[in-house]
Amino acid sequence: MPLKFKLIHHQTGYLNPADDMKPTSVDVEIRHDPLTGDRSRILNFRLRSLGKLDHSEYLERDKGHTCPFCPGNVEKMVSRFLPEEVPEGLLRRGEAVGFPNMFPYEAHNAVLRLTKAHHVLPSQFTPRQLADGLLMAVDSFKRVTPKAHYAAVNWNYMMPAGGGVVHPHFQIVAGINPTRFQSRLIRRAKAFAKRESAGMMAAYLEHEKIDRSRWVGRVGPVVWLVPFAPRAIYDLMALSPEGKGLMEFTPKQILGLARGMCRVVSFLEARGVNAYNMALHTSLKPEAGLPFMLRIVSRVHIPPMAVDEINYFEKLHDETVCFLSPETIAKDIKTMWRE
Ligand SMILES: [Zn+2]
Repeated sequence: MPLKFKLIHHQTGYLNPADDMKPTSVDVEIRHDPLTGDRSRILNFRLRSLGKLDHSEYLERDKGHTCPFCPGNVEKMVSRFLPEEVPEGLLRRGEAVGFPNMFPYEAHNAVLRLTKAHHVLPSQFTPRQLADGLLMAVDSFKRVTPKAHYAAVNWNYMMPAGGGVVHPHFQIVAGINPTRFQSRLIRRAKAFAKRESAGMMAAYLEHEKIDRSRWVGRVGPVVWLVPFAPRAIYDLMALSPEGKGLMEFTPKQILGLARGMCRVVSFLEARGVNAYNMALHTSLKPEAGLPFMLRIVSRVHIPPMAVDEINYFEKLHDETVCFLSPETIAKDIKTMWRE
């Protein structure tokens, strides 16, 4: 059975106080993601504009704190790698500085400070800065975790996304075991390959290229699209059409990947998204079977009451509620996407 883009509609009705208590019919759309098995509910109510990106609340709280990642402090205040792992203590590349996370989630969990500047707006990141972070991740996986099979490059941008400090930084994780999301992706890719004698990601991209409605464009080694069943209101995904992972990309391809990431986060800023999470999933060994997947998802607070986009449905039912359809978002980002 090829990939299934399953979509179910439920109709519900009520007497509408905004329309003289006349009967109103409302559509609830439930989507099953063919890659991940995720389930999302698309509610085509109009999402009010998020307004202009505003970090003043976080910058105000940040005042008077000494930032350990700022130039001059980073040399004194952050942890160092063990001498047998990285004899020079800190990893360095361009503006990026890498060091172990003092509060680790995995056997290998390092922090990669990305920029010299303390506060950087999404549209201000340069492809070079993000590429240096990714190249440092590759370097760290090779030097510090030669035995690990699975890895991720993650980003909590600003406090609503779980960022502990304003200063931009990636968090990289590598392990012998995949995370729960990764293991699901591996299981589904393996089952698909066994059943269809073909790659799941290639089949997905083939479908999406013909369909066009969620396709954004190719930059460097990856294709950007909006997933069929998103994990957030804004969810942008990059897949690798040739099946390569981060460890197989050339430095030039990694710069291309970073160029796409810059376009995506600039788009998020233009739509008023204050905070986002990123995860780049990749195999460290060819036999690990984890397909490359990068996701950048919004973590918005919806005005005027700053309502968190994550509610009981996502937190406790493992289903995402989206207020914009993936097709609407793909159309929107394409207005800003310059090939
Ligand atoms: Zn700083």
